[in-house]
Amino acid sequence: MKIGMPRGLLYFHYGALWETFLTELGLEVVTSPPTNKRILDLGVKNCVDDACLPVKLFHGHVEFLKGKVDYIFIPRIVSIKQWEYICPKFCGLPEMVKNTIKDMPKMLLLEHNLHKPRSNFIKGFYQLGASLGFNMKQIKNSYRKAVQSQSTFEEQCKMGVIPWYFNKASLKVSKNREHTITIALIGHPYVLYDHYANMNIISKLQQRGIRVITPEMVLEREIDKHAGMLSKPMFWSFGRKLYGASMYYVKDFSVDGVIYLSAFACGIDSLIAELAERKIRRETNIPIALFNIDEHTGEAGMNTRLDAFIDMVIRRKEHENNLSTHGKYIYSC
Ligand code: SF4
Repeated sequence: MKIGMPRGLLYFHYGALWETFLTELGLEVVTSPPTNKRILDLGVKNCVDDACLPVKLFHGHVEFLKGKVDYIFIPRIVSIKQWEYICPKFCGLPEMVKNTIKDMPKMLLLEHNLHKPRSNFIKGFYQLGASLGFNMKQIKNSYRKAVQSQSTFEEQCKMGVIPWYFNKASLKVSKNREHTITIALIGHPYVLYDHYANMNIISKLQQRGIRVITPEMVLEREIDKHAGMLSKPMFWSFGRKLYGASMYYVKDFSVDGVIYLSAFACGIDSLIAELAERKIRRETNIPIALFNIDEHTGEAGMNTRLDAFIDMVIRRKEHENNLSTHGKYIYSC
């Protein structure tokens, strides 16, 4: 039995968990290829106009898999942490896909809802396995291996590895370079690691000899600590993660610059990018740039802005830290 796995949205976080679970059950998992022009066009054509880019891309991946597999795996993610929620688009994803993609094959649904007790997380896997006729023992065994595989993936990220299976080439470049500049790249995983959608920003930075660090590399307790300083608890898991990671990188890690990569039409980004930018500008001297990505694929604008930002970060690090633009010392050295 062939299960189609769309390479979009939280595949970039839970891909190891989902793929291992299905493979360990003995199913053939067909993952859609990395996003390309065709998938982007399919997504734009088969999704509502006002959806954000990552949701459109997900539709493109589903459309690509259609006709090649028996089932398409569509997760329904309500919550990934207790007392928190994530963007409602994840919650209604199966319905959205079902109602917009014509002749949709059977869907294989998996619900993640950690807002309810933790046992609910496992329950989703039991339900999925049982719907395909697997017994408890087989499901338990596959689930255990899937969790192991996900932990290995997350540990690697915490050790500073940019998820290798998303970008082998850039990892090689990053290991072979001496870095003088470190940039924190902030954004949702499906924005940061979808290289077509973000026009290969990680490779572009690494090819300039820059060390790139991302929110996936920050420990949960650091995220909680920094996000906990907000006057009101943030109940959006990704909002908390992106804000907490940005603050950790500028306050405890002393990065040279921050790039916030936001998806056009993302409600969470519009709030978090603004909050983070204001705080960084008000309380630190660290430059921050906001890049917005959408379905338009012209790279020249992105390259020009990136070059200008990097030049400014380098110049500031090498020459301007001790001098204001008026020529007066602002720090003692
Ligand atoms: S969080 Fe933003 S980018 Fe992600 S699915 Fe929701 S609206 Fe789209």
